Formats: sequence, C-alpha cells, structure tokens
Amino acid sequence: MYEIAIIGGGPAGASAAIFAAKAGKKTLVIDSDQSVTKRAWILNHYGVAEISGPDLVAVGKQQATQLGAEIVAAKATKLIAGDEGITIETDGETYVASHVIIATGMFLDVAEASGVRTKPGTEPRIKTIVDCSSDGRTSIDNIWAAGTVAGVSMHTIVTAGDGAKVAINVVSELNGERYVDHDVLKA
Ligand SMILES: Cc1cc2nc3c(=O)[nH]c(=O)nc-3n(C[C@H](O)[C@H](O)[C@H](O)COP(=O)(O)OP(=O)(O)OC[C@H]3O[C@@H](n4cnc5c(N)ncnc54)[C@H](O)[C@@H]3O)c2cc1C
Repeated sequence: MYEIAIIGGGPAGASAAIFAAKAGKKTLVIDSDQSVTKRAWILNHYGVAEISGPDLVAVGKQQATQLGAEIVAAKATKLIAGDEGITIETDGETYVASHVIIATGMFLDVAEASGVRTKPGTEPRIKTIVDCSSDGRTSIDNIWAAGTVAGVSMHTIVTAGDGAKVAINVVSELNGERYVDHDVLKA
C-alpha cells in the first residue's frame, strides 16, 4: 500500500515524486516513458542555463529515486476507487495507494478509463484536459492531477512547479496541516 502514487514520470510527475518522497511518504511512480519533454532543448527553465529534454527527465527521476520514490516502467490503464484506497491497474502489476496524482502529459486515456471528468483544453495543441480545481483535485476523491494534463501552460518550469504544488497539497492532506519543505544552507 503506497501513500502517494503518481502516474507519469515527466517534469510534473517526477517533481511531485521528489516532494512526496522527501516528505517521507511511501511514493510510487508508474511511467510509460513517452514524455514529450524528451524532444525538447530547454533554455527557459529557471536556474538551469540549458539542458536537453532527455537529461531533464533523467535527472528528475534520479532525484526522486535518491529521495526514496519507487519508479516502475509500466502503463497505468485504470484507477478504481475503493474503501481500501485507489487500485491502479497497469499492463503489468496492480498497485494500491491512498492518493493518486495523474501527471500523464498529453495522454488522457487512463483518466478517461477511470471516469475522471475531463474538459476541453485551453493551451495550444492541447485538446482535452482533466477537469480539476486549482489545488489539483479531480472529480474523484483522492485522485489529483498535475502538469499538462491539468491544463497548466506547457512549459517544464510550470509543469514541474504544478507537480510540486499538488504533491504539497496531498502531503498536507495526509499530515492534516500545511506542509513546508525547506532545507537550510549549512554555515
Ligand atoms: C518539441 C518540444 C519542445 C519543447 N521545448 C520546450 C522548451 O524549450 N521549454 C519548455 O519549458 N518546455 C518545452 N516543451 C514542453 C515540455 O516538454 C512540456 O511542457 C512539459 O514539460 C510536459 O510535462 P508533463 O510532465 O506534464 O508531461 P510529459 O513530459 O509528457 O510527461 C508525461 C509522462 O506521463 C507518462 N504517461 C502518460 N500516460 C501514462 C500511463 N497511462 N501510464 C504510465 N505513464 C504514463 C508518459 O510516458 C510521460 O513520461 C517542449 C515540448 C516539445 C514537444
């Protein structure tokens, strides 16, 4: 049983996993390795002079793993809400988590197959998105959405930021108080 499972390991999903794992939550990332970010050359990601999309995705996953997140290469096919949590069916194993964050980029199939409400997208080239509130809640309790699939601007700094925002909201919900993750520069 995981506390937080994240579908998608691109900037939004891996960033969410970094915050969730660093908060000490039992965190799983399920990723099918089809990130559009892997086609990018990035010069506009704050704090990073320039980086290739493949490198940004790889570093993000390394950070999440180093902080304790488990990453499995698989395709999630359906989410089923139940009394014991959210069951995640994949093209391999089945998993259970208290909370699930959908961070599947331009892919809506698992959200639609799970009955999560969607709506037309508003960003360029984005046809459909998950219908979620500003804090990332979807139409199904304990299922959240972050990044491109949640309708934010399709830029790595924004999708990574949105993944972090939603993970902090889920951690805060699990902790019953607002969560802050600050490390201090050693003197
Ligand atoms: C050609 C190109 C150039 C770009 N250049 C820039 C740029 O210069 N600067 C910039 O800021 N942004 C750029 N972008 C945009 C950037 O890549 C995206 O905005 C953004 O980072 C997407 O992040 P995401 O995490 O929402 O989605 P993605 O990075 O697409 O990640 C989604 C992940 O979810 C996984 N997934 C989907 N469905 C499932 C499922 N059912 N089960 C398991 N895993 C699943 C996918 O395999 C993927 O790994 C570019 C995009 C493209 C296509």
